[in-house]
Amino acid sequence: MSPVTTPVITPVITPGLADAPAEVDLVVIGLGVTGAGVALDAVTRGLTVLAVDAHDLAFGTSRWSSKLVHGGLRYLANGQIGVAHESAVERGILMEVTAPHLTRAMPMLVPLGSSMTRSQAALTRAGLIAGNVLRRAARTDAETLPSPRRLSATEVLAMAPALRSAGLRGGLLSWDGQLEDDARLVTTIARTATSYGAHVRTHARVLSATGTSVELRDELTGTVSTVRAKAVVNATGVWAGDLVEEVTLRPSRGTHLVLRQESLPGLTVSVFAPIPGESNRFVLVLPQADGTVYVGLTDVPVEGEIPDVPEPSEPEIGFLLDVVSAAFSRPLHRSDVVGAYAGLRPLLDSADGSTADLSRKHAVLTSSTGVITIVGGKLTTYRQMAQDAVDAAVAGSGLVARACRTRTLPLLGAAPRPVLASLEAPPRLVRRYGTDADLVLTSAREVSGLSDDELLAPVSERIPVTLAELIFGVTHEGAADVADLLDRRTRVGLVPEDRALAVPLAERALSLAGRPGRGKYGTFSTS
Ligand SMILES: Cc1cc2nc3c(=O)[nH]c(=O)nc-3n(C[C@H](O)[C@H](O)[C@H](O)COP(=O)(O)OP(=O)(O)OC[C@H]3O[C@@H](n4cnc5c(N)ncnc54)[C@H](O)[C@@H]3O)c2cc1C
Repeated sequence: MSPVTTPVITPVITPGLADAPAEVDLVVIGLGVTGAGVALDAVTRGLTVLAVDAHDLAFGTSRWSSKLVHGGLRYLANGQIGVAHESAVERGILMEVTAPHLTRAMPMLVPLGSSMTRSQAALTRAGLIAGNVLRRAARTDAETLPSPRRLSATEVLAMAPALRSAGLRGGLLSWDGQLEDDARLVTTIARTATSYGAHVRTHARVLSATGTSVELRDELTGTVSTVRAKAVVNATGVWAGDLVEEVTLRPSRGTHLVLRQESLPGLTVSVFAPIPGESNRFVLVLPQADGTVYVGLTDVPVEGEIPDVPEPSEPEIGFLLDVVSAAFSRPLHRSDVVGAYAGLRPLLDSADGSTADLSRKHAVLTSSTGVITIVGGKLTTYRQMAQDAVDAAVAGSGLVARACRTRTLPLLGAAPRPVLASLEAPPRLVRRYGTDADLVLTSAREVSGLSDDELLAPVSERIPVTLAELIFGVTHEGAADVADLLDRRTRVGLVPEDRALAVPLAERALSLAGRPGRGKYGTFSTS
């Protein structure tokens, strides 16, 4: 057990395996939200940790979510009170303790239009009231998430002027948590883990694993090596079955569209657009801080090999457009869709041939060789999942570790909301890095020698990404190439047209930070 219990080193995530330790207490495979959470949990219990990802931080499902911090309402509707309570508790921890900088209260509007009967409206209202009881039971402050209330039609149209006004009787307003960005949460957790001494390496693929060792390939150099450990945690999400044959997963795809805000003018709240002909099923319309709106989501079984990057299908895009068009006054067209993305939910195959939906409750499974697999759950519950996985790893390996401390451990950049509001740094940097906003700017200044005007200039009027963030992505967050910067450290890649415009700035950041690019096995340079 290492003596490190407080952040003591400059947190830096590194691509590749150069100088990685050959022996640690715990190896974590996969750096989505779950693996990053496991690395942080384990290192803050005093264990030595190596955490790796075959591609990059948040390469998998963790960047394809709805970016919500759920209160667990839909689990309550299914009678899963324990799961709902866990979700509400973890939402409160994220919003009030560990990541106030990366989360905010999101107003959600259910319009009461002609397609919603009075009994459906009463049912929805009862659900929102139950969700508020859940919030109170989880001890989340009403200042963090206000109570739900009924709105008049006039109030509804002030918040969402583009909604269909004919037959509108009013609306129901409630509040849930929204993330600044899912991949940013993962990056922040991983960077926090490194600040306590975890070795976090991207572009390092595990080829095989047992409970006491992993065979790894450095994806930058092609070098294969073995790392010994007292415990190994498999947090590879829908790919978990590739490393542990006892785990059989069948994914289901969830698709979102990306629209510009001008497609739904004046929208200041999220809207639950009822799916015509279905009772209590909705498509979510979610405005984002960067001027885009996400619309989701679908649920389509996926057969065959699991792709690295799932692709939305045209029927899914058409379905989402149709539902939103029915709720708003201006019909949406295919040309309104400036981007679309899809993520995979894991369904666990059981021995009896049935499947369990792990998107509700996570599972911790121990293989015959002792690999602990943690799979399923939600971004919202990553902390509890990590705690359960490390508990299992400690119990199964005889490792000596301290008690879990992540419940009260702020992520890097976290601070109470009034402190965040008083920071003088640019608002976008505060929203994405919290109290580290200043570090982002000062380190970009040091590395580049450029003026703040140049470092903080957005790519364009509608693309808020700055050179300062991109340089920080390289120097502190393990980004090795343009894709790491545009598709995960920032999310400009969600709109292909914007991504193309941002490529030169990403190349400039790589060059200024001394990492001009890499090819598969060899041309990588850090000089
Ligand atoms: C469409 C959709 C929307 C969602 N929306 C929400 C939401 O709004 N809120 C919420 O709380 N939850 C949401 N969820 C759930 C949440 O996104 C997932 O539960 C979570 O992201 C899973 O994270 P993970 O770390 O387990 O897996 P992943 O994020 O998939 O991470 C697995 C990682 O393992 C790596 N890997 C794979 N094989 C190897 C190997 N051999 N060696 C090394 N690395 C490897 C991959 O590169 C990947 O980065 C949503 C899920 C879906 C599908």
